[in-house]
Amino acid sequence: MRATRATKALLALVESQPGVQWSVAEVQARLQKMGVEVNRVTSYRLLDRLAAAGKLVKSVDAERLTRYALRADAQEPLQVRYECTDCHSVQSLEERAGDAATARVNQAMAQYLQVLQEQGLAPEQTELRLQGLCADCKHDPDKS
Ligand SMILES: [Zn+2]
Repeated sequence: MRATRATKALLALVESQPGVQWSVAEVQARLQKMGVEVNRVTSYRLLDRLAAAGKLVKSVDAERLTRYALRADAQEPLQVRYECTDCHSVQSLEERAGDAATARVNQAMAQYLQVLQEQGLAPEQTELRLQGLCADCKHDPDKS
């Protein structure tokens, strides 16, 4: 019963700040501020359980402190944009590429961010920008 409430509070906390790498002590302090009384061992167990469930990524920082962050693929889906190098118009590519291709790019980027998270980074950017000529500029004979 108490564990359920603590788990919910913990999930709400990490989901509200997806880029943050939480230490056990930080999580314990924040939960207590939210009115959830947890000791260090309980906080550690909750975090470990969520990491085992694949919800959080566990890593060790430069000071050898264990940190937990929300899994990258639990964050916003990737935005793919195309910027014309000539007229600088920007268009969203999701619709053009289609759902299947977009899902594959999303999956690949989630894995990529996951690897970075495991190395202790906290990647937040979920936009991929491609550059090149747009259809109009490409077909304009006056431009080279
Ligand atoms: Zn253009």
